[in-house]
Amino acid sequence: MSGPVVMKFGGSSVANAERLRNVADIVRSEDADGIVVVLSALGGVTDALFSCGKTAAARNEAGALGGLGRIMERHREVAGELFGGAVPDELADFIAAAEHELSLLLRGSAMLGALPDQSLDALVGHGELLSSRLLAAFMQVPWLDARLVVRTDSRFGQARPLPAEIRDLAGKEVLPILARGGIVVTQGYIGSDASGAPTTLGRGGSDFSASLFGAAIRAAEIQIWTDVEGVLTCDPRVVPDARPVEHLGYDEAAELAAFGAKVLHPATILPAVELGIPVTVRNSLLRKGRFTSITRDASSGLPVTALASRAPVSVLTVRSPGMLGGAGFLARIFEAFGRRGVSVDLVSTSEVSVSMTVEASAPLEGLAEELSSFADVRIERERAIVALVGEQLRRTPGVAGMAFSALRDMNVEMISLGANEINLSLVVAQSDAPEALRRLHAAFFGKENSGSVSKGVA
Ligand code: ADP
Ligand code: ASP
Ligand code: MG
Repeated sequence: MSGPVVMKFGGSSVANAERLRNVADIVRSEDADGIVVVLSALGGVTDALFSCGKTAAARNEAGALGGLGRIMERHREVAGELFGGAVPDELADFIAAAEHELSLLLRGSAMLGALPDQSLDALVGHGELLSSRLLAAFMQVPWLDARLVVRTDSRFGQARPLPAEIRDLAGKEVLPILARGGIVVTQGYIGSDASGAPTTLGRGGSDFSASLFGAAIRAAEIQIWTDVEGVLTCDPRVVPDARPVEHLGYDEAAELAAFGAKVLHPATILPAVELGIPVTVRNSLLRKGRFTSITRDASSGLPVTALASRAPVSVLTVRSPGMLGGAGFLARIFEAFGRRGVSVDLVSTSEVSVSMTVEASAPLEGLAEELSSFADVRIERERAIVALVGEQLRRTPGVAGMAFSALRDMNVEMISLGANEINLSLVVAQSDAPEALRRLHAAFFGKENSGSVSKGVA
């Protein structure tokens, strides 16, 4: 391969010592001009850290420190297994220092009975710091604190990266190592703001980090290693016979991620697009297996490439028989959304009404009250968006008809073709969504063609 690559490993790929050894093998066998390894926390650790934080904020100091003790014990055990009991002093000191810092954060929070977002980010980011330190020590390669490179704004918990600054910082901190053909191990998920305060990119954000590093170093490829053989035709937890998609376009992948395919964080593709960097999604447990390659012009060639689903969402329907076609009506509605910071996913209009889907957590009551001064407003909760995504969708007549006949008796409450015409979205009751996905999958991908999703160890 000409040029450096980024290799990101998710929580399930680094769950224990055996998996970390497997990661080291995969990295060592990669032939590239320099490698940035981006690691998630050991599987389950981020959740456990969040839970300790919550316990502390409820003033339960003993409970929080007990939880922390178990997390640290797990890391010490993994370290012990990796090094056959002879854990290097430097690594043991790093683990001890992390434990000290975490216990201070939890004690402070228990005393206050609160955990501000800024402290929460400092707390939960330790999962990645610890896992990456274990791997770097085991592989005996440089460890990089991602907070020195991934500069973000100060929206703690959902920080936005600042790509130009990240590129400059990567030029100083990462490129010199890669220029020597070296390997550097760093963290996903975390960054820091201009004042140096630790931030996080939101849950599942390690994919995004991989892509940010990839763009910053002009990588030849961004590899996302996970526990399935790439992006599948549907979520395998819902449709067990979902099968890997070999080629995806950037737009298709971005749309699938935005509409709920957990295998990629929704922002992953963005940094790669501008530079045309290929993104591959691979299975760390079946390293020679099938995988997905995501590039600018690729497409599965099928009318529908894959399905995704997001729930719960709410549907807000605004009805005003006399006014819908009138100038300014829609503007007035969207202005109200904008002022309250509520973003709309799907929009569908009829002669007399407009329906919109929004996140279930959006503050809808106030909005509905405001809109009801000039229209009838109805809110329906516990709905799901089911999305059919495919580059060929716009050129294939009959897809909507096929979808409706697959769903037959099911109530489809809204239908919307995305402006890019590669996403046909349907809204159904949340409780109907799994069955809707199974039926649509059978209709568009047919049982006779289905491969199985392998989760075994290679
Ligand atoms: P990681 O820890 O590696 O980041 P995630 O759990 O975030 O892994 O994402 C991988 C999981 O995403 C899979 O195990 C699978 O259950 C789920 N998933 C949902 N939709 C899809 C899809 N379309 N293709 C593949 N996996 C999917
Ligand atoms: N560890 C973080 C999380 O669980 C980030 C990630 O794994 O992508 O959300
Ligand atoms: Mg993930």
